Amino acid sequence: MGEGVERIGVFGGTFDPIHVGHLVAAVNVRHALGLDSVLMVVAGEPWQKIGARAITPAEDRYAMVEAAVQGVPGLEASRIEVDRPQESYTADTLEALLAARPGVRLFLIIGQDVAGRLHTWKRPADVARLSTLVIVNRPVAGVTAEVDLPGWDVQHVTIPPLAVSSSELRRRASQGQPLDYLVPDAALRCIRERGLYAGGR
Ligand code: ATP
Repeated sequence: MGEGVERIGVFGGTFDPIHVGHLVAAVNVRHALGLDSVLMVVAGEPWQKIGARAITPAEDRYAMVEAAVQGVPGLEASRIEVDRPQESYTADTLEALLAARPGVRLFLIIGQDVAGRLHTWKRPADVARLSTLVIVNRPVAGVTAEVDLPGWDVQHVTIPPLAVSSSELRRRASQGQPLDYLVPDAALRCIRERGLYAGGR
């Protein structure tokens, strides 16, 4: 898509499980900003979430993401953090992507809920230096509408608001409620094959 500098979206997440909110965000940011591709970067060790609850193994989460993006133009599953044997820091990921593809421009995609927590990340100044931050709206209770991020190159993309979250889907699965249409079909098949989330019934 386009000419000149390659423009790549980097959309990191635990994806436990991947859901329509993630995919709608990725597809719409790619469209709005004319990105060549969006990498769905599966967190290997989501250090900010470990301890709070049991995280589904990285290979299972990667398999769900890979299944979900198969056949979707411009979306790719990335193993870059799954294959790195330590905690997942976005600054390291951006550096590795730039080293592998010199000259590309990186767009780091996050939901509005994450924008208010960027100061808790490791090396936030490096993240700000290495990427353009793309913030998408997300209907989550208690999230402030605007976050002041001095020193960051920020773009906002408005997407159809979808009040779906992985935690809500895990809760639904644990109560035997259906995940259909909230999780893409291919990822749901993967959930059933691997017996994740009590089989995703
Ligand atoms: P959990 O409920 O377990 O915290 P989650 O649904 O927030 O999970 P993550 O994998 O943690 O999913 O999110 C990855 C990225 O996707 C984050 O930047 C998050 O803000 C964004 N995101 C998740 N769900 C949505 C949604 N419904 N709309 C817009 N962005 C979303």
